Amino acid sequence: MSFKDLQLNKPILRAVAEAGYDNPTLVQEKTIPVVLEGNDVIVSAQTGTGKTAAFALPILQKLFDNQDAPKKGKKIKALIVSPTRELAVQINENFKTYSTYTNLRTTVVFGGTSIEPQIDVLNKGVDILIATPGRLLDLHKQDIINLDYVETLVLDEADLMLDMGFIDDVKKIERLCTREKQILLFSATIPFKVEQLANTILTSPERIEV
Ligand code: AMP
Repeated sequence: MSFKDLQLNKPILRAVAEAGYDNPTLVQEKTIPVVLEGNDVIVSAQTGTGKTAAFALPILQKLFDNQDAPKKGKKIKALIVSPTRELAVQINENFKTYSTYTNLRTTVVFGGTSIEPQIDVLNKGVDILIATPGRLLDLHKQDIINLDYVETLVLDEADLMLDMGFIDDVKKIERLCTREKQILLFSATIPFKVEQLANTILTSPERIEV
């Protein structure tokens, strides 16, 4: 299978080709069509399998397709929640690479560092936000971000997120994304507590294992 078979637009295909990717990985092959269809999904995949592109590419594709996709607006359309700063930064770098030939804006926010520069970027408007849970909630409390327009919520490394004690934060974030949305849950393993979380917040998810 090639990336073209996955119904991705030219600007995305071009960025993927320039990144040096010849063909989709297994998790990308399985996940991208399901995300494009709009279903919720639970993906069990380790880091290194190409799982970031498995959610990033179809998210970009959907936002790119949507003529309402804001270039100047302040509506966050996709939110990716990640347990650690390092992972969040990596995800943002991937999104930046894949969105090079689109007009979509992405940024990353995380704790342990000054909040003001993050506020400045957010105030200019972003379409896709990658965030660690604590800083995200902080920015929401300060009324800097509005999650009412989030169409796709990604919970990355869900098992690690719960191990780190973020369960209540994650549930709260899900509730703050008030509109009907697609939820993508990625986890290296699916222990009982991840299963429980999925049962609480996902709707008829498809399951993908690699
Ligand atoms: P991840 O599992 O998302 O952390 O990705 C692991 C590494 O694989 C990253 O360095 C990606 O840039 C790379 N990668 C992702 N998808 C592909 C692909 N289809 N072909 C080659 N490399 C890829």
